[in-house]
Amino acid sequence: MFTHNGIDFWSGDIVNFMNGSTPARFLVESFHTMDNSAVFVQGYMVYILEGGQFIGIKVESTSIKLETLLSIDSTPVDVALCYSISPGKVFHLIPRHKSLLEEPHFLKRHILDETGKLIDPKLFYKVRISPIILFTDDTSGNRSKQYNPYESWSMKFAALSYKERSSIENIHFLSAIPKKKGASGMSLLPKIVEDFKRLKNGLVMFSAKDNENVLVALPLLWIKTDTPCHSELCGLRAPTSLYPYHKCYVRLQRSMPNLQSSSYYTGRHTARTKAHYLAAVSTSGCGSTIPDAPLTGNALTASDLCFANRATDALLELQSFDPSTDTPVEVLHNILLGVSKYLVNDLVNVVLRKNPNQMARLSKALKDYENSQGMSRKFTRELRHCGSCLGRDYKVLLQILPAILVTEFANDSILSLITPSFVRLGRLCSLVFVRAVRYDYNMYIDEVEKAVTSLIQELHHYVITCEIEGHNPYSSKPKVHLLTHLPDNLRRFGTALHYETKKGEQFNKHIREHLMHINRLNTSRDVCLKFAKQSAMRRIIDGGSWVSKDKMREKYGNSTAEFLKENFNNNVKNIMFGGSRDFADNNDTDDITAKALCDNTFAVFMLKESRDQHAHPFIGKVSSLRVEHYRVESSPHAQVNNYLLVQRVSNDASTPLDQLKIVCKLDMHTEFNNKLVINLSKFGSYWFFVSLFLNRQY
Ligand SMILES: [Zn+2]
Repeated sequence: MFTHNGIDFWSGDIVNFMNGSTPARFLVESFHTMDNSAVFVQGYMVYILEGGQFIGIKVESTSIKLETLLSIDSTPVDVALCYSISPGKVFHLIPRHKSLLEEPHFLKRHILDETGKLIDPKLFYKVRISPIILFTDDTSGNRSKQYNPYESWSMKFAALSYKERSSIENIHFLSAIPKKKGASGMSLLPKIVEDFKRLKNGLVMFSAKDNENVLVALPLLWIKTDTPCHSELCGLRAPTSLYPYHKCYVRLQRSMPNLQSSSYYTGRHTARTKAHYLAAVSTSGCGSTIPDAPLTGNALTASDLCFANRATDALLELQSFDPSTDTPVEVLHNILLGVSKYLVNDLVNVVLRKNPNQMARLSKALKDYENSQGMSRKFTRELRHCGSCLGRDYKVLLQILPAILVTEFANDSILSLITPSFVRLGRLCSLVFVRAVRYDYNMYIDEVEKAVTSLIQELHHYVITCEIEGHNPYSSKPKVHLLTHLPDNLRRFGTALHYETKKGEQFNKHIREHLMHINRLNTSRDVCLKFAKQSAMRRIIDGGSWVSKDKMREKYGNSTAEFLKENFNNNVKNIMFGGSRDFADNNDTDDITAKALCDNTFAVFMLKESRDQHAHPFIGKVSSLRVEHYRVESSPHAQVNNYLLVQRVSNDASTPLDQLKIVCKLDMHTEFNNKLVINLSKFGSYWFFVSLFLNRQY
């Protein structure tokens, strides 16, 4: 249902077009938006057939703009006189048309009065749909973060912008269960699922925006957590079994001699579909045979395929949730604490173990990188102690290490085998750690897919050719395999930072604070009450309304406002409102407008105002409030090593800084053969240049 010009258009309505001269009408099926604003209606053209008595509905569906609709045709339709038509053909009504005409949409509900009585058969609640993201994680009830383990559930609304979603006040606490006596966060799932079913089918709520009661439907969009937890959620047994993975039936080898060819690891495998999950829970003990599971010559039972009956089966009852697709690959754990960690460990503990000279040179180069103007965060750890690196350390390291390896160690025979793996990992990270991709999203996904494939191929090549003892079969690691599913996730959920678990983990801090202040007899309820009170308080000062004893809507008055104004301090803010500490963001997505540019900063600039519509962006270096121009040089070495070579255009070409706007800040700390290098491993840089070249802007 969508409202346009004060008219509620429903799925199943036959509607008239704005332009009255068109004899056709339109049978509405569904609505969708594009670019966040334009609303489209999907449906079927409706014609009066010759003779004027019969109605023909086109079999092929069309999408039209909502604003072309004028009104609802309220003439009753006699379904017996309707036919489905296709060019030159007439059929009996196809099932889709029949159900649209005969069955009202499941969210179309009559407005009822307080006693539950119908007011007017023509009045229906407006519908608001607000998909939900669930998040689950381990937390601890102690300051030490080590003892007293809890499993928490929280949720947020998917339609909010990245920034709003990251704000603490938009995360809603559901429960925290102490992990003991066989209980865990999963134990609560059947209850949560019951609630989610009610939410999905719609609940009547007051909407401040519409100033009336509306029907709110909240389908579950995806569940955010780390991979082991996804497997648990999907009801799979321990990851040691033959088919450990929840999205497909890949078999991963744990030792080198058994490795398959590289295409096995980059390729697709039979998907573990929702139908398989449903078949698995249909019999107790998972004895049922799963149809079209991998062909091994023998029929495999659910149990062979590692399905196990769990409390999580309740999730399958949610129509909107599909365990194989709605569990997005978690970038933080897979790329940073997976592939990156393997490679950095390999570099330090295998490749450079007996080469202290290279190790020292590399450490010095990393240290020197702290002077780079192009990176807003620094890598301050010792590479030797990489075992204790955290996700945020890898984030910095992965942006600068490939650039150092391909330039300063370009001719180093010891490093030459592992360097290509870092280059390809750097490219993948540069692509994946971006908040939004504004243009050419399909092209972007293709680039990610290519980057994943080439990374896995290179890892595979490395493990089978490198003769130094001690490395693992990286191409066959579950975390590496997960990356092959990343393009699907990007298509379904948008850029990967949106389902990074980092933000949810920071929310744990707030849960922990509450946990420390309750007696823990009824943890979930007590913590929930604390969050609920804070959330109610925030709602009140945000101007939200509530129903008073005499059934009137009211808001906070002057005296409350006065009181808060006088007494508002950090203590009140934190205790009564739960603060609104924004999460720290360590993704190096610099705010390029806000910071003053100091000398020797490199960036891509554009003229602020230009009469020439085809004004091109250009690479420049800031020097005494002017910007010197640089241009890209072609170089085969640069192309395979994920960087660009640049040179100054001529000695006097420069533009005043205040005439320019900055489009993308660059990292150009390293040099190759005395020429400057644009480091494309910096997050966002690779895609920035790919899309520039695609659009021939450069
Ligand atoms: Zn797979």
